[in-house]
Amino acid sequence: MVQVLEKKQINDFLAELGKKFEIIDARNDILPPKQYFFPPKEEIFTFDKKSARVSIPKIKKDFIIFGLSLPDLEAMVQLDEIMRKPQEDFFYFQRRNRAYLIGLSEDPICLPPVCALPGGDMILEKINEGQYRVLTLTDKGKKIAKSRFLKSFKNIEIKKYPDGLVPMPTLKKMLLDPEYLSDIVAWSWKNDAKIWDDLKDICLGCGICTYVCPLCYCFSVEDRNASRCRQWDACTLPNFAKISSGFNFHKTLKERYYNWFFHKFVRAYKEYGKSQCVACGRCKKYCPAGIDIEKVLINIKEDYEKYLSVAKS
Ligand code: SF4
Ligand code: SF4
Repeated sequence: MVQVLEKKQINDFLAELGKKFEIIDARNDILPPKQYFFPPKEEIFTFDKKSARVSIPKIKKDFIIFGLSLPDLEAMVQLDEIMRKPQEDFFYFQRRNRAYLIGLSEDPICLPPVCALPGGDMILEKINEGQYRVLTLTDKGKKIAKSRFLKSFKNIEIKKYPDGLVPMPTLKKMLLDPEYLSDIVAWSWKNDAKIWDDLKDICLGCGICTYVCPLCYCFSVEDRNASRCRQWDACTLPNFAKISSGFNFHKTLKERYYNWFFHKFVRAYKEYGKSQCVACGRCKKYCPAGIDIEKVLINIKEDYEKYLSVAKS
């Protein structure tokens, strides 16, 4: 049986869910879904001097994030893993455990055995102009799939990729070999490739690429009066690696910009066996200097291949 939701009933479906859950419509979000579990700025606890008691803000209601893209769902699977080890991030999971993620795909979805299972609890996959197939992927997904607006059909036509082939942007293809990416990125820095000098001249050090990336999660912590706050940090900001003595581990923008790539492709591969990128395209879309991560990686790859061919000759 295939469950189907009519396009014209999406709002009714959400309104019904809204009786039990807080609903967040993420369809037009600029920031990635990490913002709902690890907010740009949050008070993680307050301290009451009189009673000498510490209070941690509590999340009171289950919530649904609706309309996530497939790259964002994939990123959430990785972010959950990152936040789980080496030590579970309490503040992230107190929100994450209460959240239900619903994806929305306007294109056919590649499913196992050809592709890995997408993340999220439920995905609505467009099957024609007026209908979405409902894919329920977890127990949470099953719970929200009990809605009267979802209808079951025995036979319904589902579009498939021809021969199971999935069209992929170049960056997505490159991410299939995280070991190679890790090697070439590390190589380019060790060999002082010109690319890092060129990039430091173009980059404005604004941190936007980090804020919009669903897989950047560095933060700084600050104590103010009787509360402790944490807020997003970004590799390219001048104080990112500055410590209390005033010493800065990454004084130059060149070092800081490279650190963004190092963390995503070298350190992430070492720690998690994959790159911390899902080819969502946000960093390119919102970079005020027009830097394109895919082009940077292609340039590094070309430099590396040239180096290998010279070394062999
Ligand atoms: S968004 Fe662009 S300009 Fe800003 S720090 Fe990132 S790469 Fe540099
Ligand atoms: S494309 Fe850019 S923003 Fe998107 S996951 Fe990769 S590094 Fe992050």
